[in-house]
Amino acid sequence: MKAVVDKDLCIGCELCTSICPEVFSMDDDGLAVAIDEELDENLIESAKEAEESCPTEAITVE
Ligand code: SF4
Repeated sequence: MKAVVDKDLCIGCELCTSICPEVFSMDDDGLAVAIDEELDENLIESAKEAEESCPTEAITVE
């Protein structure tokens, strides 16, 4: 599974980075970015929580 942020939808609220900082971080442009690698098993639950919590549904975890 991988996490992806659609920057066209992200509003830079930083919620995902507070829920799951191991996967999400803020880029220089003030928008979120996800690590570009397969998610460790132990990170999937919090990455999915970030996906569900994102106010603009910019995150996909699949
Ligand atoms: S929670 Fe959604 S809108 Fe907020 S920074 Fe993360 S990806 Fe962007």
